Amino acid sequence: MADSANNSVDTAKNYQNVLNEMTEVLRKSGRDSNACTLIAVSKTKPVEMMLPVYEAGCRDFGENKVQEIMDKYDKMPSDVRWHMIGHLQTNKIKYIIDKVYMIHSVDSLHLAEAISKEAVKKNVTARILLEVNVAKEESKFGVTLEETAELYKNVCKLPNLSVEGLMTIAPYVEDAEENRQYFANLRQLSVDTGIKKTDNNIGAELSMGMSGDYIVAIEEGATFIRVGTGIFGERVYVV
Ligand SMILES: *Cc1c(COP(=O)(O)O)cnc(C)c1O
Repeated sequence: MADSANNSVDTAKNYQNVLNEMTEVLRKSGRDSNACTLIAVSKTKPVEMMLPVYEAGCRDFGENKVQEIMDKYDKMPSDVRWHMIGHLQTNKIKYIIDKVYMIHSVDSLHLAEAISKEAVKKNVTARILLEVNVAKEESKFGVTLEETAELYKNVCKLPNLSVEGLMTIAPYVEDAEENRQYFANLRQLSVDTGIKKTDNNIGAELSMGMSGDYIVAIEEGATFIRVGTGIFGERVYVV
């Protein structure tokens, strides 16, 4: 399933380049240099390509399959923060509930309830984000803008969950500017729903922006960007 190690890709250098660019955009936007975290999306890529990125300072890695997190978990240093960014089936939560730092892809009350239940069992608090399909793409998971407030309200009642913000996967576009509105919409939604706390300095998390559009996403307030191709190169799916 995983690509074979492609030694021609200098993943550490790519990571450093994206990190530098992120820092520069934060500075230009008048935001703190630590206001956004770069998640290296390592799905389908082998641990040998991840370790140089870790050595370069990265601690946040994103995966979209439960099995892949389990396979890589023991092979990577224990201080890695694993981000589950893919669609999650309820019957697989138990395998990763005490391994992942955050689940970005909660798109239903049913899923949130199941995560809460497993978190109670394992006596952990699960950090979650609600996935919003801002652009209303049929191919994408996530609730609509209109459904988010209701989901947020209900999810907040569940034990052992920390609802930390919102996530979106913007459409694939040639020109990242086309996605600016969607990122702005997500940020506005976090204010409207009250997810953005006003009683402390910590705003809601906004997980938005990928290889093709992370600069625009940071300009619009992203606190997590999820970059795969820009660090690890193209993904080759072997069937
Ligand atoms: C694969 C993936 C990414 C990374 O996409 P790139 O375009 O390769 O940077 C980000 N977010 C999610 C949810 C993904 O599945």
